[in-house]
Order: sequence, then C-alpha cells, then structure tokens
Amino acid sequence: MAARETKSTERRKFLNTALKGIAVAPLGFILPVTDVLAAKGVPSNDGISSEIAKLPENDRQAKALSYKEDATMVDTAQFNRKENQFCSNCQLFSGSPGDIWGPCAIFSYRAHPSIKKPFEVSANGWCKSWGPRAA
Ligand code: SF4
Repeated sequence: MAARETKSTERRKFLNTALKGIAVAPLGFILPVTDVLAAKGVPSNDGISSEIAKLPENDRQAKALSYKEDATMVDTAQFNRKENQFCSNCQLFSGSPGDIWGPCAIFSYRAHPSIKKPFEVSANGWCKSWGPRAA
C-alpha cells in the first residue's frame, strides 16, 4: 500500500510540474529572450548592452560570407585574411572610431528578430567581403 501511495504521490508531483511548465511556456513567446535571461541574472549580449543587435555567426548570410565575430578565429589557411584586416577598417563598416559594434552595409538592412534593430557587426570581426577603407 505504501509503495502504491508513493507512486501516486510521484505521479501527482510529475503532473504538477508538467502543468506548471505548460502554463509558463507561452511567456517565452511574449518576453524577449534578453528579459528572460535578465530575470535569471544572466547578462545578455556579453554584458555590453542588451540593445546591440549583434549579428550571429550562425546567421545564414553571415555563414555564407564566413563572418567571424573575432577575426583572429578566421581560418587563414582557408581564407586570405591579412593580420590587419578587421571590420573596423573595412570600407563597408560605418561605426565610429572606437565603437566595439557597428553597422555593416551588407547586414544592416536586416533587423534582429527579437531586438528589432538593424544588425551590427563586431569591430574586431571579419568576413570574406572585407575591403580596405579609403584613407
Ligand atoms: S569585413 Fe566588412 S563586409 Fe565583412 S562583416 Fe565586416 S564590415 Fe561587413
């Protein structure tokens, strides 16, 4: 009898937890991910600013251009990237000097799906469309 009660109690606990999960799940669609992370105490966007619409490296267009947030991570055997090539000195980067993130003419026409702001690229990034900025 005691074993049967334990099973029943466990089942009740499981159903309780499952129902709470189902009730909370829609919040994921209402609250931006950054708000959920902030509520959990997790800094978003590396703690720099939750308002920067960082271009994700796994974005389809970013992948097609082999964009890396950290240019030093570019496979130089595969791509002809020179040591001094960064988004910050690319002709398509329109961030101000000293900016860590800024608009790129290739990506900034698209908006980040949750932040609803134009994508920005890392000043220390690189992609294979890099071109020298006019002096
Ligand atoms: S290297 Fe130039 S084109 Fe490529 S992401 Fe950076 S700013 Fe844009």
